[in-house]
Amino acid sequence: MATNLTKAATPRKTPPAAASFEAIRRRAKEMEGDTARFLCDLVRTQSFSGKERGVIAVIRREMRRIGFDEIRVDGLGNIIGRIGSGPRVMAFDGHVDTVLPGDRSQWAFDPFDARVEDGKVLGRGSVDQKGGVATMVHAGRIIKELGLNDQFTIYFTGTVMEEDCDGLCWQYILNEDGIKPELVVITEPTNLNIYRGHRGRMEIRVEVKGRSCHGSAPERGDNAIYKIARIALEIERLNERLRGDPFLGKGTVTISEVNSSSPSLCAVADESGIHLDRRLTSGETKASALAEVREAAARAGCPDARVVVLSYAQAAYTGKVYPTEKYYPTWALEESSPYLRCAVDAYAGVLGKAAFVDKWTFSTNGVATAGLKGIPTLGLGPGNEAYAHAANEACPVGHLSAAVAFYAALVARLNGKV
Ligand SMILES: [Zn+2]
Repeated sequence: MATNLTKAATPRKTPPAAASFEAIRRRAKEMEGDTARFLCDLVRTQSFSGKERGVIAVIRREMRRIGFDEIRVDGLGNIIGRIGSGPRVMAFDGHVDTVLPGDRSQWAFDPFDARVEDGKVLGRGSVDQKGGVATMVHAGRIIKELGLNDQFTIYFTGTVMEEDCDGLCWQYILNEDGIKPELVVITEPTNLNIYRGHRGRMEIRVEVKGRSCHGSAPERGDNAIYKIARIALEIERLNERLRGDPFLGKGTVTISEVNSSSPSLCAVADESGIHLDRRLTSGETKASALAEVREAAARAGCPDARVVVLSYAQAAYTGKVYPTEKYYPTWALEESSPYLRCAVDAYAGVLGKAAFVDKWTFSTNGVATAGLKGIPTLGLGPGNEAYAHAANEACPVGHLSAAVAFYAALVARLNGKV
C-alpha cells in the first residue's frame, strides 16, 4: 500500500477544525495507512495470554506519541490511557492477548510477519483483536485533534488474559483501579456491525466417588465410571431441554472431558469426573445452571455427586494472581438504551448507512462490565469474527478507518458535538 507514513505520523499543529461527521471521516481515512502500520507493529509483537509485556510497551509508545493525557499500567498489567478529564466516565476496551497460531501448515503466510496485502492486514491477532486496539487508540488521536470531547474522562484499556479468562482484566479494573465508567465500548471484531450482547458461559466439574476392589470380582465394589456415565447421559438430555431466547439463542451444555482413577488397571474405578462447558442464555444464572446439573445427577441415581464451578488462578505477566470463578454471565444491552441509540446515530452519520445491530457468537470482556457489574456495554470492531482463532487471519484495511471514524463519532455524539 502506498502511504506516506512519516507524514501521517506527524501530529497536527493546526487548531481543531469544527467537529462534523465529514471531518471525522476524512481524518480517519487520511490516517488509515498509519493505523495499518500500528496494527502491523502490534501483530509482530507476539502476546499470548499471560505474556503481554512486549505488546503493552508498543501501545504505550503509540499513546505517548499521540499525546494521551495519562498512561499507566495496573497491577494485572492492563494498560490504561486517558484522554479528557470531564465529569462523566466512559471506556473503550480491547484485549491485547491472542491465541496461539495453531498448526502452521494451515497458514498461507507467517502469522507474525505482519504486512498489508490485497487491502488486508495479515497475521495472528489482526482480527481478534489487535485491529480493535489499534483503531481505538487512533480514535483517541482524532478526538484530541478535532476537540470532540469535553464532558468525559475517556479510558482506553488494553487488557490482558482475555483469551484465557474473559472479563478477569475488567474485574481488576473495576474492583482495584477505581474506574467506574457509565458506558464501555468493546472493540472485539463485529465485521463493523454494532453488537449489544452475547451468551454467558461457565465451566462446571461433576465428580463421583466409587468403591474400589479387585477387577476379578467387580461385584464387591461400586464402579465410579458407571455412575459418571449415567450422569453424562442425563447431561445430554439436559442439553435438549434447555431453553432458547429470540435474541441470544439457546443455552447449551456439553461434556468436554472425562477422567477417572483406580488403584490399577485391574481394579474397579474409585473416582470419576466430567468437565462441562455450559453456555448461558437470557435468564440463566450460575444458580439455575448448577441446580439443573444437580438434578441431572439425581435423575442418574447419584444425588451425592459433587458439582462445582471451577476457578481460574493463573499468574499475569506481572506475577499477579487474581483468582476468579469460571462464571461469565450473559448480558444484553436493552434495545431502547440511549447509548445504543447514540451509537446507531453516530454510525449512520459517519459511515453513511444504517447499522446492523446484533450479538457476538463468542464471549468478550462484556461478561464483567455488563454481566457482573451491569454497566451499559456495546461494541463494534474491525474484521470478521469468522477469522478469530482461525488460520489465515486477516483484517480489511478499510475496516480500520471505519472503526476509527465510528469511535470518534460516538464520542462526538455523546458530547452533543455532532
Ligand atoms: Zn477476542
